[in-house]
Amino acid sequence: MTQILDGKAFSAEVRRKVAQHVEKLKKDHGITPGLAVILVGKDPASEVYVRNKGKQTREAGMTSFEYKMDESVSETKLLTKIQTLNNDPKVHGILCQLPLPKHINESLVINSIIPEKDVDGFHISNVGLLNTGQDALTPCTPLGCLMLLRKNLGNLSGKDAVIIGRSNIVGKPMASLLLRDSCTVTIAHSRTKDIKAICKKADILIAAAGQPEMVNSNWIGQGATVIDVGINRVKDESHSKKKFRLVGDVNFKSACEVAGSITPVPGGVGPMTIACLLANTVTACCRSNKLEVPPEFLA
Ligand code: NAD
Repeated sequence: MTQILDGKAFSAEVRRKVAQHVEKLKKDHGITPGLAVILVGKDPASEVYVRNKGKQTREAGMTSFEYKMDESVSETKLLTKIQTLNNDPKVHGILCQLPLPKHINESLVINSIIPEKDVDGFHISNVGLLNTGQDALTPCTPLGCLMLLRKNLGNLSGKDAVIIGRSNIVGKPMASLLLRDSCTVTIAHSRTKDIKAICKKADILIAAAGQPEMVNSNWIGQGATVIDVGINRVKDESHSKKKFRLVGDVNFKSACEVAGSITPVPGGVGPMTIACLLANTVTACCRSNKLEVPPEFLA
């Protein structure tokens, strides 16, 4: 029987712990962690994410600062807003929702957030710290995957891990985190030869390619742990009312024939991402106030 890794339930547990630490910071130190989220434009998926982030930030007892900017906002105006937030002591974490409109230089914006408040973990300093095994703010989705893996498998040392996808926000940081946990890591991507055979050898298979249901039972070794990061909207032929449904990069039904455990989509990695964003905000707040960071929030 394949075990379903319930990211919804586990993320609720992480958010409960975040709320407890927030309460403690308020009571013992008079500090309320604050997260600022900037949304540029009206991308429907981004609007949903930002709404959920704001709601869950408030539910955890933190302050949510939300800024909506017009699609046509100038790069200078966006950078000025970030500068203001960098200097605001009530703001401990800053996130600028991606993707940004084409006329704005994404790297410039990411690197304008001071590393201490970069709760997405995308700033080049945090990337360097993570890759050299130092205290970084870690990208939320890979951190969520790592938490799920540790909860399910315990010690990851010596496991063969294959990651499909080499993006800066998922694939590469995921590889760094698994290396830190002493896995043997392979990154596969769109040019990888014989990808199925490589994936089949993995104890841990992480799919982050953005290709709907690409991975099936032929890609998975018996008993492997499968983490499906993909979120893809596909046309729903079976349902008369719903036009679209969400699927991962893994064909769930087929994968369940061989996988030992697997994350579903939705309800797997997705909810862990926001929970880790909240955890990162507490981490940033504790560090900026020279307080101990709750160890369970760290990679
Ligand atoms: P990306 O497009 O930046 O990178 C995709 C990677 O997959 C690339 O490195 C590419 O080489 C590789 N790839 C593409 N097609 C491939 C193929 N046929 N075979 C092998 N490799 C292939 O995507 P991303 O931002 O890393 O996101 C990946 C997926 O994860 C997307 O579906 C995205 O929506 C999802 N995602 C989910 C969360 C979450 O919270 N659950 C967060 C971020 C991204």
